[in-house]
Amino acid sequence: MSEPLRVLITGAAGQIAYSLLYMVGKGDVFGPNQPLTLIMLDIPPMMAVMEGVVMELNDCALPLVRGIVATADEDVAFKDIDAAFLVGAMPRKEGMERKDLLAANVKIFKSQGKALDKHAKKNVKVLVVGNPANTNALICSKYAPSIPKENFSAMTRLDQNRGQAQIAGRLKVPIDHVKNVVIWGNHSSTQFPDVTHATVVIGGSEKKVYDAINDETWLKGDFISTVQKRGAAVIAARKLSSAMSAAKAACDHMRDWFQGTPEGKWASMGIYSDGSYGVAKDVMYSFPVTIQNGQWKIVQGLPVDDFARAKMDLTAKELCEERDDALKVCEA
Ligand code: NDP
Repeated sequence: MSEPLRVLITGAAGQIAYSLLYMVGKGDVFGPNQPLTLIMLDIPPMMAVMEGVVMELNDCALPLVRGIVATADEDVAFKDIDAAFLVGAMPRKEGMERKDLLAANVKIFKSQGKALDKHAKKNVKVLVVGNPANTNALICSKYAPSIPKENFSAMTRLDQNRGQAQIAGRLKVPIDHVKNVVIWGNHSSTQFPDVTHATVVIGGSEKKVYDAINDETWLKGDFISTVQKRGAAVIAARKLSSAMSAAKAACDHMRDWFQGTPEGKWASMGIYSDGSYGVAKDVMYSFPVTIQNGQWKIVQGLPVDDFARAKMDLTAKELCEERDDALKVCEA
């Protein structure tokens, strides 16, 4: 067995982390033979709650978990880490304007970027879940110049999983018979869930999702809005935001990043834009990628029609605005 990987989870006393810690601890991300040191960061008022989570983690008796560090100190939390799930962020409160939320979070992710730069391994892989995730990831990478920009990402995997689930449900096929649903852009209501390139195995043969469903009105209408508004629907029903599914998506994202995407399957992740598909540069934009040996590569050459172009541009525009607002806060 290899040395334990040092894995940081922030917001460790929160709802998403409550599911995530267990999934990571039992080997869902780094594999069944990879020992782990779990490092948990939260803010000082949450330390008592975190103590309870540590007790439960210990009581889970997970053989891969070789050590647990629970702290409110970034200098301790970011030390020599191999992977970071940055979940903790200022929650959106009623009456709060977007720019207030952005300002609060920019402060957190600027500080965590600096801590990564100073303390983390240079090959650390960073996944930002806390919202606004794409812009938080961008700020984090800007303040960690010694770590390659390719090592920062934002989570759009939950949106991908939601899209896949909608298609599988409509066609009444198992979830893993559907592949290559793509999420373009921001993890926000402007995201573009795109099934133009997705396929499904149905009746023993592989078909385009578009042909199998044969209902363009639904695919361009209710399908997209259901995925875009799924988070709000979960909140309305549960009175709490999605946590188990967000944690599972974070695991899927990081597992594919560390272990690679299966042959022929794409994953969507928010990554530093190189201008592919005419998207603005210097934003964290969700693209379809394939991953090998820990390196992602944008899937190139997909045809983009006018409908997709308009949606891809709209979400890029929002990301540019968020970036400009966030940078103003940073420089202030
Ligand atoms: P959650 O664990 O539910 O959510 C954490 C973050 O994830 C939020 O930004 C939230 O954004 C986002 N998120 C929630 N659901 C989804 C989803 N379905 N898809 C994508 N993103 C999602 O929040 P809690 O309030 O339970 O826990 C947050 C914890 O973070 C608290 O313990 C708090 O103390 C901690 N915290 C830690 C910090 C640190 O470590 N430095 C800094 C700030 C907070 P949304 O607003 O959209 O729900």
